[in-house]
Amino acid sequence: LLNVAWARAWVQASAAVVGKNRMALIDLDRAIGDGDHGENLDRGFTAVLAKLEAAETATIGDVFALVAKTLMSTVGGAAGPLYGTAYLRAAKAAPAETVDAAGVADILEAAVGGIVARGKAELEDATMVDAWSPAAEAAREVATSGGSARAALAAAATAARTGAAATEPLIARKGRASYLGARSQGHRDPGAESSALLLQAAVEAAE
Ligand code: ADP
Ligand code: MG
Ligand code: MG
Repeated sequence: LLNVAWARAWVQASAAVVGKNRMALIDLDRAIGDGDHGENLDRGFTAVLAKLEAAETATIGDVFALVAKTLMSTVGGAAGPLYGTAYLRAAKAAPAETVDAAGVADILEAAVGGIVARGKAELEDATMVDAWSPAAEAAREVATSGGSARAALAAAATAARTGAAATEPLIARKGRASYLGARSQGHRDPGAESSALLLQAAVEAAE
């Protein structure tokens, strides 16, 4: 089972991985967007980290709700509301002190639902959905076959990594990159990449 300490460690690992990959995310967004994705997320997770240190969190959902609220008010652009909605839905899906594999799948499915409700992207539109959607699916498969919460998380992170890489040949159909049409091909979507990094952080937090 994963607990509140895991959720808090996930936030810390997220801030670390986003900080470490700030320039790489900026470079990805520079190629097909406006080059601010790494900066925006780094600012957001730095703020989240400060808020978390001062906050008491009784449930996993409390941690995600704090992330949602802070990202909404600090990240801006397209990704701020999208990630904000994802974490808000995830918070509602985890009003508990612990989650098992099915709970991990519930969290990820809720996050995808939030992103899609907000941004209306479909699979293969070359957005963050291409990382989160296969991640949720992979976690659900592990849960259904009786695997552990950690195994569900690890499968999700692997699927998100593959999904992010798979955005490279796609034509972007949502967000700023879609303005480039076919010229968006050959570039990895920055939001899909940051999503894969965040799920990797979730795995590291569970170790
Ligand atoms: P902006 O484009 O406003 O500068 P960011 O650079 O922070 O915002 O984030 C861009 C990322 O947001 C994209 O790489 C993509 O993954 C994601 N994104 C943009 N629009 C959508 C959408 N409609 N649905 C899902 N994801 C989207
Ligand atoms: Mg941008
Ligand atoms: Mg921008």
